[in-house]
Amino acid sequence: MLLTPGPTPVPEFVRKAMADVTIHHRTPEFEKIFEETRELLFELYGMDEVVMLASSGSGAMEACVTNLTKKKALTVNSGKFGERFGKICKAFNIEYTEIKNEWNTPVSVDAILEAVKNDSEIDAIFIQLCESAGGLRHPVEELAKEVKKLNKDITIVADGITAIGVEKIDTTNLDAVITGSQKALMLPPGLAIIGLSNDAVAKIEENAKGFYFNLATEIKKQRTNTTAWTAATTLIIGLKEILAHIKNNGGFDALYEKTALRAKATREALKAIGCEIYPSSPANAMTTIYTENAPEIRNILKTKYNVNIAGGQDHIKKLIYRINHMGLVEDFEATWVVNAIELAMDELNIRDFDGTASKVFSQEMFKGN
Ligand SMILES: *Cc1c(COP(=O)(O)O)cnc(C)c1O
Repeated sequence: MLLTPGPTPVPEFVRKAMADVTIHHRTPEFEKIFEETRELLFELYGMDEVVMLASSGSGAMEACVTNLTKKKALTVNSGKFGERFGKICKAFNIEYTEIKNEWNTPVSVDAILEAVKNDSEIDAIFIQLCESAGGLRHPVEELAKEVKKLNKDITIVADGITAIGVEKIDTTNLDAVITGSQKALMLPPGLAIIGLSNDAVAKIEENAKGFYFNLATEIKKQRTNTTAWTAATTLIIGLKEILAHIKNNGGFDALYEKTALRAKATREALKAIGCEIYPSSPANAMTTIYTENAPEIRNILKTKYNVNIAGGQDHIKKLIYRINHMGLVEDFEATWVVNAIELAMDELNIRDFDGTASKVFSQEMFKGN
């Protein structure tokens, strides 16, 4: 049972759709698939433009940094992925300021406003909606609204790799929202997507940079249902399949609702057996628990109960574990994981097993409290 917050399992109907013979990307047949996928992405994103890139999520992060920063970037580092925006700036000699916090702490709106007020060179802000390193949710929509009140020309770029497909994002004040194939979209890795505002498109057209990740070239091509370079045809076929499936089986809102409920039920179940939720503002993509026993718990889950959950990275590598809620997680999988954690805690003499986790989970998830 793969319950890591990326990669997530690829559903069988998607694997089957991607198993057909390779089709050429410069054909009316593929262009039709591309067009239909684009339409589904517009529905998913609710933004003015979308582009698909043949790269992992970090490629889209790079494209946004290079194409959407004119003078200076403000980056938010509450974990590995926020730190990456700074590393990208450095690699391209783009000037940047970073707001750094511990990995369980979201950025404050005031800290962002202060940084912007004190430095008129800043013209783009880069932040994660969900920082997957600790599973925290940044107040992105709120800070975007406040920043735009101050200066509507500041571009807001949100990395939504573990947020798009997890929850409804209010994109009103966002200029670029990034996602990747292997998390909430349940596909193999290798495809990145960026949703864009009209303002972002205008800025890109003035400021396009690079070659492979030149977004002006891509936008122009993709508006005619083709790509600048060879498209990731197989992954796009898979993307169309998964988005159409979600749309035709209750819709995106129903998926968001179910994911939120599963995340809440998991948090409540684990709190009830004495677990400590790591982030002060947990995102619904994953549940992160802080414990010095994280490696032992993960090991028991993997060897005895057939559940693969993720650990941490860097300084909290051995101090957290993370359980995925993204995608089409089965109820029996979600119920099983909290029960297996309670059993593992019993084995480690942390707490005697009495079935509390599974009971609380079921109450929350299925009985409505
Ligand atoms: C996984 C992830 C990425 C990195 O994506 P890659 O596909 O590994 O390049 C970036 N940001 C967040 C928030 C992620 O969870």
